[in-house]
Amino acid sequence: MVTRQRDSFENFEASELWCDRCKASVVVRERLLLILPGKNLYEYLCSRCGNSLGKRYESDPDNMNIAKIRR
Ligand SMILES: [Zn+2]
Repeated sequence: MVTRQRDSFENFEASELWCDRCKASVVVRERLLLILPGKNLYEYLCSRCGNSLGKRYESDPDNMNIAKIRR
């Protein structure tokens, strides 16, 4: 019988992407790049060297209200 000591690690939600500079699959850091009406633009950065690995839009309905207030 093998005891499953690594169970706690399986809950760790870290997204990994390939980094050309590190030549390895690295854990990414998420940085809020831009706030747009109804959505946020996030940038993925390499946690080792800080290289930009990609961007992602995430819808944020709360932002719609903020945009209306600003106008
Ligand atoms: Zn890197």
